Amino acid sequence: MNLEDLAEQIKQCQKCGLYRAAKNAVPGEGNPSAEIMFVGEGPGQTEDEQGRPFVGAAGKLLEELLASIGLKREDVFIANVVKHRPPGNRDPLPEEIEACTPWLLEQINIIKPKLIVTLGRHSMGHFMPGLRISAVHGQPKRRAGQVYLPLYHPAAALYQNSLRQTLEEDFKKIPLVINKINESNLSN
Ligand code: URA
Repeated sequence: MNLEDLAEQIKQCQKCGLYRAAKNAVPGEGNPSAEIMFVGEGPGQTEDEQGRPFVGAAGKLLEELLASIGLKREDVFIANVVKHRPPGNRDPLPEEIEACTPWLLEQINIIKPKLIVTLGRHSMGHFMPGLRISAVHGQPKRRAGQVYLPLYHPAAALYQNSLRQTLEEDFKKIPLVINKINESNLSN
């Protein structure tokens, strides 16, 4: 299975009710051999309209943050925990997350990123339950051989200036974590 075929399957998905109110599925996009994969929570309104992840205001900030470490969105892979927009941007329900998780796992399995950057507490909680983002943001974690870096969500940083500075500083850790993984085989 490649990512394009997987995206086609995701577009047909009716495993939970979210597809009913959504205009488009948002499977995710980027470099199929990316070292770094970003995982947000779920598509917002602009993403739903365009069928692409992080293309609204939060996406603009994400692109600025990527540029600050010399990356473009095409260099990384960007996805979400749920692939259809929850109506009114509500939090996805546990059963919606459960239904959608196999898609994300398959994407991770194909891309095999060295690092998964979780954006926001919901994405973090999906991979690493029980952590508090205020306590662990910017600290790399390893779970079952996969390295994660939990970061605040760019949308939160748009509303709180202090978080924006924190997010900018945490982003600078991404290349350092990648170097560390490369040096020490942290990912194995
Ligand atoms: N917020 C998310 O979590 N994901 C998107 O794709 C856009 C905004």
